[in-house]
Amino acid sequence: MIKDMSPVESIRGGIYGLAVGDALGAAVEFMTKEEIQARYGVLQDIVGGGWLNLRAGDWTDDTEMALAVAEGVAKDPENPVPYIGEAFLRWRATNPPDIGGTVRAVFHAYDLVKDWHRAAKQIHARTGKTAGNGALMRTLPLAFVYQDVLVLFTHSMEVARMTHWDPEAGLTCYLYCLVAQGFLRGREFGESYNNALDILRKVIPCAEVGEVAAGLIDKLAQVASWPAEALKPTGYTVDTLACALWCVANSKSFEEAVVKAVNLGGDADTVGAVTGGLAGVMYGYEAIPDRWVAQFTSAQRERLEGAVAGLIRLAPENAGAEGIAELRVED
Ligand SMILES: [Mg+2]
Repeated sequence: MIKDMSPVESIRGGIYGLAVGDALGAAVEFMTKEEIQARYGVLQDIVGGGWLNLRAGDWTDDTEMALAVAEGVAKDPENPVPYIGEAFLRWRATNPPDIGGTVRAVFHAYDLVKDWHRAAKQIHARTGKTAGNGALMRTLPLAFVYQDVLVLFTHSMEVARMTHWDPEAGLTCYLYCLVAQGFLRGREFGESYNNALDILRKVIPCAEVGEVAAGLIDKLAQVASWPAEALKPTGYTVDTLACALWCVANSKSFEEAVVKAVNLGGDADTVGAVTGGLAGVMYGYEAIPDRWVAQFTSAQRERLEGAVAGLIRLAPENAGAEGIAELRVED
């Protein structure tokens, strides 16, 4: 934990951390932890391959969609949904092989209704199952932009609900962003997490999702002290958030947290991305192993730097670069 780290170092750490976690975990997505152990011992290097047959250093939908969110909020922080949506559609036009099930269904619905929230609501009504990982894996940029807890709540829910209408999806995004903001302000895990839960308790009763939020708090309140066997790296957003929080809480470095996360197997690229984003904010860019960042091409790094620059540019207006430092003192 680096108390006096600059917000820029934290923001860059979060964006790169998410991308390296995705690229590391992608090799073992859908494998069990026993299969990973048999094949790699402990997976510690970005090796590529996996079910997507990736080049070492390729990332997947998690990073692509997070970059889309970063781009959308940079274009219009007041009303980012249309711009995030445009970026989603540009990504879809590249014909990626790994669009998630819920996202794919919502893309189809969007083609007809041309409204993200209506499309997502339709898919939720049809399937009843939209608390998948697809919203959580892309939510981190919001933590850097919206410093007010109510404004962050609104945007976390709205951006999640572009595809994942289930309130648990948006609420896990909100809790994740609150924890990340605690790290930005130099808090340790325990303090940051307890503060995030307190905010959730206080902010939510007024919202229509209060009951779901109370259930989420019950499920995750003690996550840091769970036994490792309780972790489930599934496609369910609450399970994934639990894995990420646990890995960060029970590690002493960026690398340790992300290695623990991806070696759980299952939805390993997403658990890696969600953990890497959080751990990157906590430990900063310099803590990310060079051998991982070195796997990215210059074109990939340009895209990450573009996202970082856009988020930092928003910072002064939204209590960012200097503002966060001030908030740290006020806290
Ligand atoms: Mg993925």
